[in-house]
Amino acid sequence: MFQREIKELTSIGKNNIYQISQIEWWLLKNQENYKCCKENNIKLNSCFDDIGCACGMNSQENKFTSLYENLSEATEFHRFEEYAKNELTLYKSIISDKSKIKEWLIKNEKIASEFLSTFLIYYLNYSEIERDNYHLLIFRSEEQNLDIFIQRTDFENLIEFKELFDELYYVKKFYPEGLKRIEEKINKLPKYLT
Ligand SMILES: [Zn+2]
Repeated sequence: MFQREIKELTSIGKNNIYQISQIEWWLLKNQENYKCCKENNIKLNSCFDDIGCACGMNSQENKFTSLYENLSEATEFHRFEEYAKNELTLYKSIISDKSKIKEWLIKNEKIASEFLSTFLIYYLNYSEIERDNYHLLIFRSEEQNLDIFIQRTDFENLIEFKELFDELYYVKKFYPEGLKRIEEKINKLPKYLT
């Protein structure tokens, strides 16, 4: 099941590397398949009526859902590529003004430290050799023998934006109040979680 759909996907990538527009095209094309898998997985595959079991986890429907959602999540991040580009341009115009850099950090704190908190770790951390983490790995299944990378150029502004924010915020500490607030939040977590 879904062999045809997955084959259609893999036939458009080159060496497992895709353009974001190709992924978006495939997602759009498979919207109904996704809905159907999501809604019917338990009904079709579970040994119980309303709740899941291991059979539901290992089903073709569930694997398709997981693939679809992983690809979809990457396209959600990609929506901020244009925003990141504009913020990088803005940054270059305020580069020597510390108080404006601080304003820039305050403005971007939520998106960079929350929404993008795991962005680099998720997608660009698959090889121990740092320079090999070039294209973004958005899906990997050894069982399905399936690797999906998105070409780095599609995310170049977002990557640069996130790296710049992290450097200014966590390393150079241009907005220490914000960083302190985050650290206090972490310290308040119950000890067994840290
Ligand atoms: Zn079962």
